[in-house]
Amino acid sequence: MKIREFFLLTMLLVGPAASTLPAAAGPPNVVMIYADDMGYADLGVQGAVGYTTPNLDRMAAEGMRFTDFYVAAPVCSASRAALMTGCYPARVSITGALPPKCRTGLNPQETTIAEMLKEKGYSTGMMGKWHLGDHPDLLPVKQGFDEYLGLPYSNDMWPENPNARKNSYPPLPLIDGAAAVDPEVSAEDQATLTTRYAERAVQFIGAHKAGPFFLYLAPSMPHVPLFVSDKFKGKTAGGLYGDVISEIDWAVGQVFAALKEHGLDENTLVIFASDNGPWSIFGNHAGSAKPFRESKGTCWEGGIRVPCLMRWPGKIPAASVCLEMAGTIDILPTVAALTGAALPAAVLDGKDIGPLLRGVPGAVTPHESLLFYYGNNELQALRSGPWKLILPHTYRTIVSVGADGLTGKHGQAKTGLELYQLAEDPSETKNVAAENPQIVAKLSAMAQAAREEIGDNLTKTNGRAQRPAAAVTW
Ligand code: MG
Repeated sequence: MKIREFFLLTMLLVGPAASTLPAAAGPPNVVMIYADDMGYADLGVQGAVGYTTPNLDRMAAEGMRFTDFYVAAPVCSASRAALMTGCYPARVSITGALPPKCRTGLNPQETTIAEMLKEKGYSTGMMGKWHLGDHPDLLPVKQGFDEYLGLPYSNDMWPENPNARKNSYPPLPLIDGAAAVDPEVSAEDQATLTTRYAERAVQFIGAHKAGPFFLYLAPSMPHVPLFVSDKFKGKTAGGLYGDVISEIDWAVGQVFAALKEHGLDENTLVIFASDNGPWSIFGNHAGSAKPFRESKGTCWEGGIRVPCLMRWPGKIPAASVCLEMAGTIDILPTVAALTGAALPAAVLDGKDIGPLLRGVPGAVTPHESLLFYYGNNELQALRSGPWKLILPHTYRTIVSVGADGLTGKHGQAKTGLELYQLAEDPSETKNVAAENPQIVAKLSAMAQAAREEIGDNLTKTNGRAQRPAAAVTW
């Protein structure tokens, strides 16, 4: 008898101590953490100033940090639609940030990542901001999540928003399952959200430790108005913003502690990213997109390139850095490949980036290009290799910043057809279109092909493969 066979036989006869059993031999658990409006430079490992992010930094040390990771749109609902479906928001017809009592939302005909994993036998839970339709028929529990605790949309869509017209928003509900557990969230309640979501996430992990599970934790912070619990208030030199990020970092630490406690570390992929760049017009209540140009609400790098970490001990090499282009649209197809779940039948835009995650030597991005939409379904930019083509459009820029939760002033700026070489010029300072007419022509052709497929309102093009959003009545 060979040694290995002897060992296996012994295991069969005697059995290992329960505590040494691998927690789950089946498909991996998946945890997706998606912060709201956190900037590229808001991670300690990416230069955060005035506060630290020890748990996120440890995640980077134990996993992979992506330097060129993109959301599909620099605004909440469109960005989240891409994450949930693996499609460009233009394809599934979700643009901008959906308002309360919205008559649209993510079409239930679309397959969300939660629905895909449920088919594979996963338990699914979501805590945090949904923002893909607040109608009861469009909430997370109708889109593949077994359980849900969170705000149906942004925390500033709230009667007490100091920057909104008085009473322009209905009461903001905190929803548990399908019902409002707190129909009128107050400022005191807002301060409990980050911890409350984290506690529910920890509970969910414990309840489903036998696996497999999919946990989607989407903090409402650091979207303004900023709120933090007492245990983090005034604790950093980064002001309220630093305190808020510290609490999010703590929440990430709680998730990791729960995974460790239940022996799930080795069988769980954890992903952390932000839904768009920082809301810089809020000054000291916003993060930093340094070294990138502009911020949330633009398709300059500051709006679309976000922090991203992935950790899966034994599968993703520790302390690794991925310089290849990837994005939130890739998460659904990558998770499908890792878990063996069947891909949705509909056409997707994302690709499996498993080889990048595993650190396969020579692995490159599977994308010839990534598209960036903003406004009313406007294709404003695309990236291919190191090149970024900016399509002629009007964008908002910051004239003056606000402070302490009050907004500043936006202005409008115009750009023509411009080209940037991001490897040499990540801050998009030097338009090199004139020197590179062939690159401009090549990327322009890619833009045209994209328009014909999924549409573009800048050129009034209807895409032949756009799918409708939901239509609901209240
Ligand atoms: Mg956001």
